[in-house]
Amino acid sequence: MHYKIYIFIFLSFTFLVSCSTNVNKSYNTEISIAEEKEIIVQKKILINEMAKASIKLHKITWPILLANKQKCKDNRKKSYGSLFADVNDLPEEDKKIFLTLFNSNIDPKYFYKYHVDGFPIILSIAKDSPAYNAGLLKNDIILEINEKNTKNFRKKLLFILENKQNLTLKILRGKEEIKVNMLGIQSCSYNVQVLPSGFPNAFADGEKVFITMAAIKLAQTNDELAFLIGHELAHNILHYKNFDANEANLLAIDYLDKPKIRQIKSILVWSNESREVEADIEGMHLAFKAGFSLENVNDYWRRLSVFNPELIKNSINIYKSNAYRAALINKTLKKLKEQANE
Ligand SMILES: [Zn+2]
Repeated sequence: MHYKIYIFIFLSFTFLVSCSTNVNKSYNTEISIAEEKEIIVQKKILINEMAKASIKLHKITWPILLANKQKCKDNRKKSYGSLFADVNDLPEEDKKIFLTLFNSNIDPKYFYKYHVDGFPIILSIAKDSPAYNAGLLKNDIILEINEKNTKNFRKKLLFILENKQNLTLKILRGKEEIKVNMLGIQSCSYNVQVLPSGFPNAFADGEKVFITMAAIKLAQTNDELAFLIGHELAHNILHYKNFDANEANLLAIDYLDKPKIRQIKSILVWSNESREVEADIEGMHLAFKAGFSLENVNDYWRRLSVFNPELIKNSINIYKSNAYRAALINKTLKKLKEQANE
């Protein structure tokens, strides 16, 4: 072949290659820009769903914690019945998302005045709690905590809870600045949080209770969730006996928090089949005392069995079969109702 043809082939090949590389490059750039945008979209959905599910849990949890306060007499920390989200609950890269979701209506002058990255927002106030009686409302923005700015908000709140001081908050509601004052009350102040996971499950680690997102979505009534929460609280109360939990550490939107060994003595708590049965029974007592009827709780296990047929009649690991648990629940509920009528 003539060398000119070689050159021609070579040139056209390079041309083709560079041309397609350019196409790939712009194609890839476009995709990576869209990917970055999509990350924000998905994070926003995640954080919103975390907040929504946490609010749902909070409304069910508070009555249980309060009704059973006698069982947590050793907890010296008081509770206010509030659930809030703070900018520092999220990783650094998500702080802008927090501002968009929860701080977008705040006049910029407040950011200059208080020198903070973001303001804590009230997500939920439990009915008849100290925060409720003080007049706090969902979506209130917290400007000041005991006359100080909200930097390290959770640390400041913990200090107040530990020292049993009054909690005074200056809040922003629309354009109005309002001061509210409240006194903590005794409750079982365990934190019940959402764990983003696709498997319906729940965990207790001595201080916190985690209910997975899948379990929250699988449950169809508050009774079903009250049962799950009661079961895990029963582990904390009966088996861990660690009464150091506090409301300042209740994280509603922190999607990275998970069950962990919080104290050395927790390592000694291994659950087994008899502890699981005990937690089912005691958990029902806790939830029933708070006014949950628990009539339809077995529907949860029946629904779970559709996803995990092997659980219908077999004990797996430390858990009794779903059928056994349903039978145990029926028997316990019958007893609870008899006792209530006595
Ligand atoms: Zn358990």
